[in-house]
Amino acid sequence: MVLLGPPGAGKGTQAARISERLGIPAISTGDIFRANVAGETELGKQAKQYMDKGEYVPDSVTNAMVKDRIAQDDAAEGFLLDGYPRTEAQVNELDAMLAEAGLALDVVLEITADNEVVVERLLKRASEQNRADDTEPVIRRRLEVYAGQTAPLAALYEAKGLLVRADGIGAVDEVTERIMTALEAAGVRA
Ligand code: ADP
Repeated sequence: MVLLGPPGAGKGTQAARISERLGIPAISTGDIFRANVAGETELGKQAKQYMDKGEYVPDSVTNAMVKDRIAQDDAAEGFLLDGYPRTEAQVNELDAMLAEAGLALDVVLEITADNEVVVERLLKRASEQNRADDTEPVIRRRLEVYAGQTAPLAALYEAKGLLVRADGIGAVDEVTERIMTALEAAGVRA
């Protein structure tokens, strides 16, 4: 399963809950990059310069990382990708990776939220978590990059009959229930 939605839509929060309900790992490319930045690994050094500006890390780096991660044992029964794919090239790369492993996507969930709400949430998170990319200019840039490169992927998955949408505005529990109801309606069950 793939999770789409702008920065601040609540993907990370909801990914953890969906993961628990469905019994599959949530794989967040942003979290993997941040762990590598914190650990000062080679991958972290490559990713940091892009992340700090709100730009996407190059596909060559990101694709290899995802391929490696989804081949791990805990992902054998399925997984949820949070933050990947983010570009059309990544969509094609993911399709190729899955085909090679004899797998295919079951569903793509888009969590929607309007710009002003997400900016407000991200600024609040900035003051709580101290993320290097949660400053207002970088947040605006991330939203711009999302709108240009990632938002169009929803239509692409919709054309493939894989897209399910859920409104990300409201209390966390309320959004989770909305998502689980939408997934069940699409035939996704634990
Ligand atoms: P956001 O809330 O902005 O979506 P994430 O934690 O998902 O935050 O990602 C943080 C940063 O990590 C992104 O701005 C980007 O630089 C990098 N990143 C994460 N996933 C990808 C990806 N699939 N392709 C390229 N860069 C990525």
